Amino acid sequence: MTGSKIRLYVDHDLASGQSIALTREQSNYLFAVMRLEAGTQVSLINSRDGEYLADIVVANKKNGILVCQDQVKPLLLPPDLWLMFAPVKKDRTAFIVEKATEMGVREIVPVMTDYTHFDRIRWDKMDLQAVEAAEQCGGTYVPGIEMMEKLSDVLANWPAERQILFCDESKVGEATSLKDLPVDKDASWAVLIGPEGGFSEAERDLLRAHPNTHAISLGPRILRADTAAIAALTLWQTQLGDWG
Ligand code: SAH
Repeated sequence: MTGSKIRLYVDHDLASGQSIALTREQSNYLFAVMRLEAGTQVSLINSRDGEYLADIVVANKKNGILVCQDQVKPLLLPPDLWLMFAPVKKDRTAFIVEKATEMGVREIVPVMTDYTHFDRIRWDKMDLQAVEAAEQCGGTYVPGIEMMEKLSDVLANWPAERQILFCDESKVGEATSLKDLPVDKDASWAVLIGPEGGFSEAERDLLRAHPNTHAISLGPRILRADTAAIAALTLWQTQLGDWG
């Protein structure tokens, strides 16, 4: 029964009995676009409290009020995995954000690399894409999207315990295995995907010299960055993450 309900991400705390004032955009979506009426229900998520059913109490096109009923799902936090990638063209970046959210990452970390080329980045859109993907896929968590920094700066300030799965196109064709990684099962991770132009030699040197980096191949063919992101997240999730 909960599956058919509209799912909405809100900033508020969720708890039984909690009332929630909707924003103008949310009210417009629920009551003008979806034409929901007072007395019906929606599902709410907020990245912290799981999923709650909520009754629609006020249903105006510019404002609305919901009241939370029961929790229907506990919070399912994705594993402590970041997707670090060099933004590509607008549509492909949107695709990467959407897929990473569906596949389960904690944070999305855009990095500027030597060969990164992109149109103007719409950060507000990236947040929205992550929210819509979480609403649609039954998730209870929306990954945070970090501000973009240079890859070399990110590596210089890298958290000591976080491992990096470096998808290195120069290893194309080598065997791919995460089985023999010399790190413990509960380590935190980041998957790193380069831009369409690949990594520069200087970046590759920096990455190889970094103590937390594990370079892998993604098979015998060069993948586009968006395909590589999905392939690497699938590998990581099946072997080290919460798919198993
Ligand atoms: N222009 C580059 C390819 C870049 S592909 C070249 O021709 O060499 C974009 C990114 O996807 C790469 O930087 C890498 O992170 C990842 N990638 C694509 N195919 C890969 C493969 N077979 N093995 C490892 N990483 C790969």
